[in-house]
Amino acid sequence: AKSAGRNNFQFFAAAMNKRVCEHLELENRLRQALARDELSLHYQPQYDLASGRLSGCEALMRWHNPVLGQVPPDKFIPIAEDSGLIVALGEWALGEACRQVMAWHAAGLPLLPVAVNVSAVQFRHADLAGQVARALRRSGLPAQLLELELTESVLAENLEQIGATLQRLKRLGVRLAMDDFGTGYSSLSYLKHFKLDTLKIDRSFVSDLPNGDDYAALTIAIIGMAHSLGMTCIAEGIETAAQHDFLRWHGCSHGQGYRLSRPLSAQALGELLQRSTAA
Ligand code: C2E
Ligand code: CA
Ligand code: CA
Ligand code: CA
Repeated sequence: AKSAGRNNFQFFAAAMNKRVCEHLELENRLRQALARDELSLHYQPQYDLASGRLSGCEALMRWHNPVLGQVPPDKFIPIAEDSGLIVALGEWALGEACRQVMAWHAAGLPLLPVAVNVSAVQFRHADLAGQVARALRRSGLPAQLLELELTESVLAENLEQIGATLQRLKRLGVRLAMDDFGTGYSSLSYLKHFKLDTLKIDRSFVSDLPNGDDYAALTIAIIGMAHSLGMTCIAEGIETAAQHDFLRWHGCSHGQGYRLSRPLSAQALGELLQRSTAA
């Protein structure tokens, strides 16, 4: 038994070691990704569910490394957060998303609202409001077309400091969205207190619709609450016609998901914009 224990430990140590090495390798390569132009943004269309019209898009980061290939955000964003690299990556994403919307516009397409994900680390360690102001100024994007998606973890931070940053952002005129709503611990009073504009119903609720009874009841309650607070409500992760119908029927104003469109390259979203204006 003793030697089996030792073997287990060796196995465990080797596995740990491998994980640490992988993590360090990813971190080192990520450190160079910006300078080497390996990052891009894809844009997932968002729709007005009642009219079916394109209403905006969410910018999602993509990393293609020549050695590692395509690395999914669920893998590299946490590493970027732990290492502090997210501050630079996040600033790049803000600038790039604003620039892209104005580039579509310069090509004769309509101005499309864009949502950018912002990590809690960016609130803690960066002059986020300053970065947002610069991105708007450099691109010329009207502030009300930019929405910042925050997760509930942001509100778990030092509330005084967060409150001051959120106020500065509101004063700039950008919109604020609560992402992944229903998965964290945020108190409902925060939604009102911080004057958030949009509530995004997390995919885990949507994926159980329409038959998961508890989730269906909760989803209906969230939609009603968002609207009674005067917030826009976006359901994410809509994959089936039944989910789409359920949300539309219960008055959810907006949605996004594979059923409506996958995230698209800037080029492909430009073509979609072109088609939706021609129609
Ligand atoms: P998120 O903000 O909740 O973004 C939605 C994720 O769901 C995206 O994954 C999107 O591609 C995926 N998705 C959209 N529709 C569907 C659907 O119908 N079904 C399913 N199963 N998935 C769908 P992605 O692009 O892999 O991003 C994962 C997460 O990484 C994001 O979750 C966000 O938390 C983070 N992330 C991505 N880009 C950024 C960024 O620029 N900054 C920060 N801080 N985080 C980012
Ligand atoms: Ca998001
Ligand atoms: Ca989300
Ligand atoms: Ca998520």
